[in-house]
Amino acid sequence: MHEECGVFGIINQNSDISSINVAQLSYLGLFALQHRGQESAGIAVSNNKNILVYRDLGLVSEVFKEGILNTLQGTAAIGHVRYSTTGSNNWESSQPILQQYQGGSFALAHNGQLTNQDELRRKILSSLDRYSKNCQTDSYLISQLIKATEEKNIEKAVKKTALQLKGAFCLVILTEDKLIGLRDAYGFHPLVLGRIKDSYVLASEDSALSLIEAQYIREVQPGEMIVIDKHNYHTKQLLSSPKKALCIFEQVYFARPDSNVFGENVAAIREKIGQRLAIEQPAEADIVISVPDSGRFAALGYAHAAGIPYQEGLLKNPYIGRTFIQPNQTMREYSVKLKLSAISSIVIEKRVVMVDDSIVRGTTSHKLVKLLKKAGAREVHVRISSPPVNFPCRYGIDTPNKEELWATRFSLDKIRKGIGADSLGYISLEGLTNVFEKNKPSDFCTACFSGDYPI
Ligand code: SF4
Repeated sequence: MHEECGVFGIINQNSDISSINVAQLSYLGLFALQHRGQESAGIAVSNNKNILVYRDLGLVSEVFKEGILNTLQGTAAIGHVRYSTTGSNNWESSQPILQQYQGGSFALAHNGQLTNQDELRRKILSSLDRYSKNCQTDSYLISQLIKATEEKNIEKAVKKTALQLKGAFCLVILTEDKLIGLRDAYGFHPLVLGRIKDSYVLASEDSALSLIEAQYIREVQPGEMIVIDKHNYHTKQLLSSPKKALCIFEQVYFARPDSNVFGENVAAIREKIGQRLAIEQPAEADIVISVPDSGRFAALGYAHAAGIPYQEGLLKNPYIGRTFIQPNQTMREYSVKLKLSAISSIVIEKRVVMVDDSIVRGTTSHKLVKLLKKAGAREVHVRISSPPVNFPCRYGIDTPNKEELWATRFSLDKIRKGIGADSLGYISLEGLTNVFEKNKPSDFCTACFSGDYPI
């Protein structure tokens, strides 16, 4: 499973253009959000008159080679990292998107996925040019809808557009003189507001604020639109919904452990999930290990609650970057080994509890169990810090089709046998949703486990 995107925005209210380098701070902010998308990166900068966009396929460090940031001078900027869920992985699908409208031009970056994009595309089809008809992303569609309002005032244009959108969307929009942030009414994915010197900052996660030493102010509320210009900052509750639907997978897997998401620290929540998992799914074992990196804090919590020592039994290759595995069986066999190796001296002759965040297709778990057994582990007990993934996501997380999800196709025991584990246990949905203190169980989207889609 992959997060679709990360967004970042900054606007300097000091008219001295050299008081802060918005492109460099956006670059650093995107670095902190790199885990949310590794296929493309981009930054748009406004110098009060024009908007300049630079975007390309690749990691932030690959896209912004030496010298490029120096060409992006201005007083406000937005940035984007992308993993594709709609549209293919090509340059056209990268963001920010630059678009003309009645009042000038704007750049847009989007995290999420619309559920009514076919209907919206049909609605404005006649006004689209050939290029726009071919562009498949829902983010591009949003930019077209803003243009199609024929409003000169960007706030009115965004408002009219937002009222038509269904699904998950965190948007940052940059005009020549404004930065706008908007979060959908259900609040699927996070968006936070911060401040550094004379500048306001918007980011998908507050770890991006920490990296640039910006002060955290608060979350953008579900349905809220924030508009910031040179002089003012104002906010409007634009959209409403009968309930919240915070993506629980942000806490389980996607977000950085040092981020605070939906009001709670991710590392602390993962430890609590691990503790709960240990109570619900105990195992007779000598050591607890994690599948790095996302399983680490749940494994620590499990070890602590179970009174079993925690050890690092799997090592992650930190230099792996993006590896393009050839689509043939021989190369696929090596894909997990490239990323992770078992430390034989730690697991040999041991009964091992391996804590991971999810089982989607089961192929990775199977390879990891095999690695551990080959390294000498006597028993491998797999514990999963999320319930079985039974349904695909429709709100911005890339999941396989229902037919490919193991939990849909096989019984617990068949999955256990399929991955070669001595035992297998998942945390219950009730157990997972009850570890949170700031949000009620009903505040979360849990559709990929329960099939209970909020939209
Ligand atoms: S379906 Fe799952 S992954 Fe998608 S938003 Fe809901 S909880 Fe998150």
